[in-house]
Amino acid sequence: MSAMPPGNPASNPFSSSATYLMACQQLRTVARAIDLDAGIAERMMVPKRSQIVAIPVRMEDNRTEVFIGYRVQHSLTSGPSKGGLRYAKHVDLGEVAALAMWMSWKCGIMNLPYGGAKGGIAVDPAELRGGEKERLTRRFTEEILNIIGPRTDVMAPDMGTDEQTMAWIYDTYSMKVGYACPEIVTGKPVELGGCVGRKEATGRGVVYCISETLAELKLRAENSTAVVQGFGNVGSVTCEELNKLGTKIIAVGDRFGAIRNDRGIDIQALIRYIATSERKSVAGFPSAETINSDELLATPCTVLIPAAMERVITEANAGKLRCRVLAEGANGPTTPEADAILSETDIFVIPDILCNAGGVTVSYFEWVQDLAQFMWDENQVNAELKRHMLKAFHRVRSQANQRKLTNRIAALSLGVQKVATEKAKRGLYP
Ligand code: NAD
Repeated sequence: MSAMPPGNPASNPFSSSATYLMACQQLRTVARAIDLDAGIAERMMVPKRSQIVAIPVRMEDNRTEVFIGYRVQHSLTSGPSKGGLRYAKHVDLGEVAALAMWMSWKCGIMNLPYGGAKGGIAVDPAELRGGEKERLTRRFTEEILNIIGPRTDVMAPDMGTDEQTMAWIYDTYSMKVGYACPEIVTGKPVELGGCVGRKEATGRGVVYCISETLAELKLRAENSTAVVQGFGNVGSVTCEELNKLGTKIIAVGDRFGAIRNDRGIDIQALIRYIATSERKSVAGFPSAETINSDELLATPCTVLIPAAMERVITEANAGKLRCRVLAEGANGPTTPEADAILSETDIFVIPDILCNAGGVTVSYFEWVQDLAQFMWDENQVNAELKRHMLKAFHRVRSQANQRKLTNRIAALSLGVQKVATEKAKRGLYP
């Protein structure tokens, strides 16, 4: 396989993104490790289908603003494509393509009948007022209607989007097709055919992986401490679930600031504080000291959980981490250069495509329930989530031990191999 993604850099529209190049670099490393067929590896480098749309929105002050939206379907080999929709200012085509590629490997590890996809709109959701977010979401849905569908591509929440966003997509799509179609999105409100426990699923899955890791390292959860970057869906649920195991959360940060309390942050009080604070941020929480955001990741702790965004652990700070376990709640938080540094330490890495796979797993349960029109109770959802997460965790650990691979390469190799086998068996059309 060539060193660069297919196409010359000027004609490959993804290549200007560091995140996309990072995903390609990981794929190349895995391709070497498992001796992947070069033609199949080449096909996996480039997303199958990508759509860029202009989304005009009537703003609250009556101006019209045009936002750019993306939907990238990395693979359609294993079933419909599946992946979140992200609202963030920095979103671009390459970032969305990388996230879509990681979704393919994640669905592969979890053995879900999906290819990977991702979507994004370049917008800061905190700046949207009144009905702007709803109008933006509905118009985006309309603009990508030709490539989504319950058997084609199914969206879910990601950074900056939530259950309400999914409800608007569900409603817009249903209005277009003329019947209620809950299976068009996952992560919807339970009242609309959402799955109980979906909102908590990613954080719960993160904590199942952490528990298994602590057991393997012969560490006790109740004597452990955790530091979490990001206090949105994934970060906040992870904190709550860790608290239930007796693990103290000693520092938390978000895009507006970071706080620390070595006696343990009262997570329920923090959630109440954020609900009433103007910026909906951890910044200014009275029962903790304010720390510099740069210090957060270097805070000594048992488990460090990046749960915000990609490429935050880099060559510059990887050597400064003071944790025993790095549990990647976010997608792509660690660059390959940082990975090389971490592989020289005794830090146990739980890689993103395994660690945060609880979200897409319960999304799969939701889709199955909506198609069957038969809903499960929360005990069943949680038991199945735990079973799927533990099975994947132990498959990754045995692959790593047997083939002397890092956990990340072991996880990626299982995901990539599953998609590659399906591609090889289906053959190349025509
Ligand atoms: P969210 O929007 O609910 O929360 C994001 C959090 O990150 C917020 O607290 C925000 O303030 C913080 N943040 C943003 N930029 C930051 C910065 N520069 N520095 C520090 N903090 C920053 O998003 P989420 O759904 O919790 O997703 C977080 C991560 O988890 C993303 O990488 C996402 O792709 C990944 N993920 C989410 C799910 C899911 O089910 N929601 C599933 C798998 C993976």
